[in-house]
Amino acid sequence: MILPHISFAESDELTDEEIKNMRMALYQKAEAISQIPWYYYAAIDQYERNIHDEYASNTGIIGITFPKEMWNGITNPNLNDKQHQTSTGLFNGKGADGDGDNITDRTNDEDIIQAMVNWMTQQGLSKQDLKIALWKYFKRELSVQTIMNMAKVYKAFQTLELENNAFPLPKGYNYSYRNTWGDPRGFGGRRIHEGTDIFANYGVPVRSTSYGVVELKGWNRYGGWRIGIRDIHNIYHYYAHLNGYEKDIKVGKVVKPGDVIGYVGATGYGPKGTSGKFPPHLHYGMYKDNGETEYSFDPYPYLRRAEANH
Ligand SMILES: [Zn+2]
Repeated sequence: MILPHISFAESDELTDEEIKNMRMALYQKAEAISQIPWYYYAAIDQYERNIHDEYASNTGIIGITFPKEMWNGITNPNLNDKQHQTSTGLFNGKGADGDGDNITDRTNDEDIIQAMVNWMTQQGLSKQDLKIALWKYFKRELSVQTIMNMAKVYKAFQTLELENNAFPLPKGYNYSYRNTWGDPRGFGGRRIHEGTDIFANYGVPVRSTSYGVVELKGWNRYGGWRIGIRDIHNIYHYYAHLNGYEKDIKVGKVVKPGDVIGYVGATGYGPKGTSGKFPPHLHYGMYKDNGETEYSFDPYPYLRRAEANH
């Protein structure tokens, strides 16, 4: 099979749309070579873009960043980014040559994608095989799950353009919120408030603020009836104290900004079904996964921005 050679300009001269088009071209090339759908490569690439401050890629178009030792081979005394592929092969490095120059270049987008193609096809092509390959690469369950969910989102919308956000409550309802980040909370020991409380009446619809996949749904002693949605930026959006859920919302469902997921309530702070121990409000939390740990951050500025575009 002959595949088109893709050449790149410096990415800082490119618009966001051009960069996304180039990414898509690389993912589709990977699909053509491997028969693994493009959206898995998009998900791996996006996941890695989220966890690295700097990417190996010299264009910044691809975020996948193989560790040097993995790329060149653990016992390879030469850890240069560029070397002849026979050397990489000799030391069982995972680096590959995707642009046909016989050099495995850790900073070259086509070489990076080819190496990921080789990695992802090592087990087989079933969903389970892909999960095993991802597990071997990341050695972390949350990373595997996040990537599989991101792939679902890309598949559902068939685009990389998934940046829109929505305010969690629809227009036309009264609500109020202020910045309560870090306020002390008495219940359940010494906890600080990790989120923003948006006060509104019982039954006001609660909407997903982002594209993503429902990762969690159910009761929790503090949060009451709650939903967790993971977006394509490794951010987990947590919606708590709900009165109830939108009927078709279940774990694994793909959502977009503005989709109704549940309704404002006052559930929580007690055993299953407890309600009314505080005024009805939506507790909205955001947690970022950096590839090693998850930490909460202040959703208030994000809510203000989403509200401004309301
Ligand atoms: Zn709260």
